[in-house]
Amino acid sequence: MARKPIIVGNWKMNGTVEETLKLITELHHKLESPEVDVVVAPPFTSLYSAYVMLQEMPTIKLAAQNMHWEAEGAYTGEISGVFLKEIACDYVIIGHSERRQYFAETDEAVCKKVASAVAQELIPILCIGETRDQRASGKTENVLESQLKKALSAIPMSEAKNIVVAYEPVWAIGSGETPTEKEIESAAYFIRNYLGRLYDAPTANTMRILYGGSVNSENSGIFLRIPNIDGLLVGGASLFPEKFLKIIESRHSSS
Ligand code: PEP
Repeated sequence: MARKPIIVGNWKMNGTVEETLKLITELHHKLESPEVDVVVAPPFTSLYSAYVMLQEMPTIKLAAQNMHWEAEGAYTGEISGVFLKEIACDYVIIGHSERRQYFAETDEAVCKKVASAVAQELIPILCIGETRDQRASGKTENVLESQLKKALSAIPMSEAKNIVVAYEPVWAIGSGETPTEKEIESAAYFIRNYLGRLYDAPTANTMRILYGGSVNSENSGIFLRIPNIDGLLVGGASLFPEKFLKIIESRHSSS
């Protein structure tokens, strides 16, 4: 079965409720039956309003940017997958490098979050990727393998097929720098191959692999043509409806 492409906009800590609704309205207005899954990830405070608005706009799906692994309890400041499910979030970004880097999120925490998301029937968008130093010292594949192995250690083969893996080199996020097509192709091939070893080839072949890191409307079509890349995780450019739309549309020039 062909993997449906998916374009995810990660708005990070940007967007009041008013700005979120404006952005979604503009996006929806110009979005004509996309052949890709279009997903937006506004901040937590905007999710409920976005959910209400998106009930009339089913072409756009909702993601959260993070979650806690427990369903409820004394975890001040945290949000659980149960709450995300209640407001019809379909996806949740887990293990973004900014969370690993600034909020000390460990592979163990990422593993618990992925397992909890799957248990709540949310689709995890699991972010993995090497730092600049790790790439320079030839450790990219070791890092990808180790992050995948730990993050998916609680996920049996029967639950793995919906999981989305986002390859996001840490040094490419928000920097304007990107790997070459060959480097992305090789990382995506490695990820698919490793997923095949972890589960089996048919399972690995149903899992979607995204590229993320300084995607813009000029380079998106190129990235979408790379073998084993099934979509994009877009940060900065997703805050501008016209840029995000071009990125979504660049899928058409990619087949
Ligand atoms: C991201 O936040 O996942 C990301 C890829 O950001 P940017 O597109 O701004 O590099």
